[in-house]
Formats: sequence, structure tokens, C-alpha cells
Amino acid sequence: MSQVLYRKYRSQNFSEVVGQEVIKITLQNAVSSGSVAHAYLFTGPRGVGKTSLARILAKALNCTDLKEGQPCIKCENCEAVANGRFLDLIEIDAASHTGVDNIREIIEHVKFSPSKGKFKVIVIDEVHMLSKGAFNALLKTLEEPPAHAIFILATTEVGKVPATIISRTQRFDFKRISQADIVEHLKKVGKSEKLKVSDEVLKLIARAAEGSMRDGLSIYDQIISFSGGKVTKELAEEILGLPPFHLNQDFLQLLSERHLGLALKFIKDLSINGRDLSGFGNMFLEYLEKLLSYKIENNSAEVWGLTPEDLEKLVEQSRSVSIKDLIRLINLFLEAVPKVKYSTIPELPLELAVIEFLEDDETKRFGDGEKKTTEVTGKVTDLVAKKRPVTKENHFASEPVEEKIVVEDLKKTEESGPAKPITANLSKIMEKWNHFISEVSKHNHSLVSSLQLCNQESCKDGTLTLSFPYRFHKDAVEQRKNKDTVEKVLEQVYGGRIKLRCLVTAEVGSEPEEKKVDGGLIDEALKVFGA
Ligand SMILES: [Zn+2]
Repeated sequence: MSQVLYRKYRSQNFSEVVGQEVIKITLQNAVSSGSVAHAYLFTGPRGVGKTSLARILAKALNCTDLKEGQPCIKCENCEAVANGRFLDLIEIDAASHTGVDNIREIIEHVKFSPSKGKFKVIVIDEVHMLSKGAFNALLKTLEEPPAHAIFILATTEVGKVPATIISRTQRFDFKRISQADIVEHLKKVGKSEKLKVSDEVLKLIARAAEGSMRDGLSIYDQIISFSGGKVTKELAEEILGLPPFHLNQDFLQLLSERHLGLALKFIKDLSINGRDLSGFGNMFLEYLEKLLSYKIENNSAEVWGLTPEDLEKLVEQSRSVSIKDLIRLINLFLEAVPKVKYSTIPELPLELAVIEFLEDDETKRFGDGEKKTTEVTGKVTDLVAKKRPVTKENHFASEPVEEKIVVEDLKKTEESGPAKPITANLSKIMEKWNHFISEVSKHNHSLVSSLQLCNQESCKDGTLTLSFPYRFHKDAVEQRKNKDTVEKVLEQVYGGRIKLRCLVTAEVGSEPEEKKVDGGLIDEALKVFGA
């Protein structure tokens, strides 16, 4: 990974260090008050400023023009440290110098007085990599260090550093750098380099850096060198392997419109196209969070730094998604996204979240008495309307309907959840079936062959269920125009409004309704999974 910017913009004194406020103030105070410890332990993730602060401390301890603990960065010693040729600063990488001999060599060297400055500073990076013998040798020196020696041990894995060593040091836990701080720093760098990069791109970089300034600058470097001068958001997304922002909206659209198959295919496609699924999951969660807070507060949209187009789409989408759905989705994806990295099939956790979201939804939709009652009531009201005009008074009146279609007490139905207000008779349907088909043939002849092939499965709750041996026939009958025709003729022949439901014969037998829906979802899922 390119390190040009990282080297060029390494912080040179305490105030230039981004983040780590407590640590740099403590160190600066220690230098200015002359109370520097003999051994420090810098722990924390990579690229958060451990080595930079170690060098700044080395400068501060040897600067000939120190001001309130802050190195001047101009004197001979400061410059020598910055250029990596200060003789009293020894930096070793324990990852490649693990042996006891390496440590012994350093210990010998430390015994001599500093050649140029006041202190010899020994920085041991990735100190947890030292061998047991090396740690023992180091421990002896830390127990009785020469007055002019300052040890700085840095590690990303403090758990592997022996407790005996830790107890001899003053420990500082470095934190990940916030995205805002990284963006701020990248802005400064961009300004000095005369780069024109939008805040939006800087935010993408900062997010990908995951709290590491070194990574942030390396990614920045990479993007600039790829861009040939013009850094667009799309290019940045491409280099970072991030899915473009509009995919959030496309994906949510599929979910809110309950397209299970398409939503699963969407995830598959991301995976096939080599998108970072974990990155997408996190981006989607952020999008959901924005939508939710927009729906709740209605005014936070300005601060998100979205492009006007993206913002417009977000506002538009906020109208078609309920708060309840957003909360459910956030919960499901909060659980699924962290699993992506550990799953042998990375797309699986996201796919399961999608299925769970839509499956629950379907079960609720069909199992929920309230909704069903409303729907059925609507139908029954229509039936009643056939018999006499609907007035305010008789709108919910109960009245038996001829041809064995019975209407029960509708008021009661409304109050007491799911009910079966209509009992249509299948044998009655069969009785007039030939007549029905001949009537259909007057409207649409091509429908006849399909209807002749079907089985009449059931007729209840005002719904006639037909099964077809081949999907082709089912699809033909279900075409909007054809279905309207069939329902119109049903009404005409049987004297009441009957809703048509079509199945493929293989699907029959998975009643009740909820099960059927589940089966459908799972079938659809299996299709997408290629099972
Ligand atoms: Zn200086």
C-alpha cells in the first residue's frame, strides 16, 4: 500500500497529532515538568499514532528549544529525529528482531551516555513478538534502567505482553480515531496537496479506514493515484469495493414492496460482482438509521452530507416505508451484518435477514385477524350491495344471500377478529361449471382450455381456489385482464362476487393459508439459492 502521504504528513509535534487528546497532553506535561517515566507502553490498533507519538516524545526529550513541553521541530535534534538519523533514537521492530541477542545488543548500547541529546530513546514496535528470553533480558533493564534511557514499547496486542513487563511501564491505551477527525485531517492534506476531493469521498475513505489514520492516508493515496486528477464518488466506491449509495434505495424498495425473490437476487448479485457485503450491510444500516431519524425528526437530513439527488430520493422513500418496518429491518440487519465476515457463505446472513423480514411479514399479514376481516368485510359489503343499494343504515346489516352464500353478522365479525362470513358452496360451483366456461368463452376463448384443465380445489371465504397442472396455465389465467374476466363471469353466473385464487397442482395440499405463504416463500428462496 502506498505510504507517500502518510510519511509526508506524519505529525511532527504534539499538537499535530490527531486524536489521542489525553495521551498527548499527559506526555507533553510530563516533558515540561521533567517527570517523564522510564518506560511507556503504547497499546492500540494500527495506524492510530503510537509510533508518531513515540518519535515526538523523543524529539521533546532532546529538543534544544523546547517550549512548554512542545518540541520546536526546527533545531538540529528535532530535524535529525524527523529524518530518521538521530543517533540517540533507536527504533526496532520486534516482529523481525525477536531474539534475545537483539535485545542484549540494545541493552549494551543503552549503557552509554547519549551522544547528541539528553536521553536515549528506545522504541520497540510490536513488542509482543519478542521471545521469552528477550522479554526476560528486557525486564532486567526495565527494573533498573540507566537514568538517561527511556523505553517506549508499542503493541497492537497487549494481551501477549507479559504482565511483569506491563507492570514496569506507564501504559497508554490509544483509541481509534473518529471518522470526523480523519475527514478533518484528510481535508488539510488535500488542501496542501491542492487536491479537489469532495467531503463525501473523504467520508467514504474515513469509514473504510476504520479508525486508522495510516490506513486513511494510504487509501487516499491510492484513490488519488488511480484517479488521474479527478476523484469522483463512483471511483472511490469502486476502489474501496463499496456498493454505490443508490443500492440502499434499490434494496429497500424491493423489501418494502415485498419482492422476496428479487431481494435475494440483489444480494447474490452483489456477491457475484465482488462487492464488499459487510460494507454494503453497514451502509444499508446507516441508510435505515437516516431514514428512521428523518421520519421521526423530519429535519436532520441537512447534516448528512448527501448529494441533493440522494437526499431527494431518501425523502421520497421515507414516505413509503413505515417506522415499524424500519425498526424491524434495523434489528434484523444489526444481527446479520457482523456475521457476514465469519460466514463461509458471506451472503447467507443477509439473505436470512431478508427472508425473516418478509416471512414474518407475510405470516402477520395473513394471520392478522384485523386486516383479514377488513378485507373480507369489504367483499361481503359488495355482495350485500348486489342485493340492495348501500345506505348508511344498511351498510353493515346482516342478510342471507341467496345461492347458499351466507352472510353472517358483519358487525360481530368486525369486533371479534377473524371470521368466516361467507360459505360458498363448491358443489354449487361444480354444478354450473360448464355453464360458467361457456360464458367465459364468449369473452375470451383462449382461457377456456386452461379452465377446462384445472381442478376446483375449494370455495370458501368468498375465494374460489383452482389448481392447474402447469404453471403456464395458471399464469395465463392470473394475468390481470384474464383474471378480471374470470371474476366478472363468476359473479355473473353465481350471483355474488367471488375472488379467484390460482395454484399449480403441485402446490396444493399445504393448507392452511399461512403455511401456503411460507411454502411459497421458501420455494422462491430455494429457487434463488439455486437449490
Ligand atoms: Zn527542537
